Amino acid sequence: MPQDLFGAIADLKQELNAIVLAHYYQDPDIQDIADYIGDSLGLSRQAAETDAAVIVFAGVHFMAETAKILNPDKLVLLPDLEAGCSLADSCPPAEFAAFKAAHPDHMVVSYINCTAEIKAMSDLICTSSNAVKLVQQLPADQPIIFAPDRNLGRYVMEQTGRDMVLWQGSCMVHETFSERKIVELQVQHPDAEVIAHPECEPAVLRHAQFIGSTTALLKYVQGSDRTSFIIATEPGIIHQMQKATPHKHFIPAPPMNQCACNECPHMRLNTLEKLYLCMKHRTPEITLPEDIRVAALRPIQRMLELS
Ligand code: SF4
Repeated sequence: MPQDLFGAIADLKQELNAIVLAHYYQDPDIQDIADYIGDSLGLSRQAAETDAAVIVFAGVHFMAETAKILNPDKLVLLPDLEAGCSLADSCPPAEFAAFKAAHPDHMVVSYINCTAEIKAMSDLICTSSNAVKLVQQLPADQPIIFAPDRNLGRYVMEQTGRDMVLWQGSCMVHETFSERKIVELQVQHPDAEVIAHPECEPAVLRHAQFIGSTTALLKYVQGSDRTSFIIATEPGIIHQMQKATPHKHFIPAPPMNQCACNECPHMRLNTLEKLYLCMKHRTPEITLPEDIRVAALRPIQRMLELS
């Protein structure tokens, strides 16, 4: 392994004409080497617009899959193929097909955190940044299935006043925050604002002064007069918050146990070493059956057009 991994990765970027896209939940050193850091919507836009020959996706499998759906002719690499997502896994395609068949007149709106098979069964993809805005644009009399995240679905229902049939999936990380510990933190830090991702459970969202996607949370702390925040999402985002506003104080919302389960174990499978190795050996590569890719592309394109 080269001693200067940052330098070696920079050389490989040149050699391969590669772009490194990283999610906010990646380790800080991966964020620092990335050409673009963002949430799912920003990353999809970057993947759609890049003219690089190789996309190295420092995120989880469904994100790299989305990049491949948008770029069938490009090599899309994921540092660790095991980097999955508990939320995507909570919506198995065969069961979802039966659920969809049981609601034949419903339009399917799926959160981007799902597999290519689920995207292929969807009419519209959304992210936590645009879910409310997109659902508001749908005809009022159109029945909707929202999948796979029940917490985001419930939040969208509250914000839009729309009734939706929810698939009962959830993210193991965002369901781990302890409401009791957040309230204790609020007592210890009375000036701190709680800000939360809509994948959190309603009991946690109730305490939040601001709810938004990771990008919205980052912008919020930059624009706010407050100097102290309790962050109820994966703590990887705190690296960018700290860089953007070094004088502010960020407290990760604690999980229920004394573990580090507020860190996404899937996201954290990627390391700088694995990122280097995947570029050096051009593997593991994301591949998809063409019929699934084409079917999954349509609702993603619709999202990109509507947002
Ligand atoms: S934080 Fe949750 S939704 Fe995001 S990748 Fe990890 S398991 Fe999936």
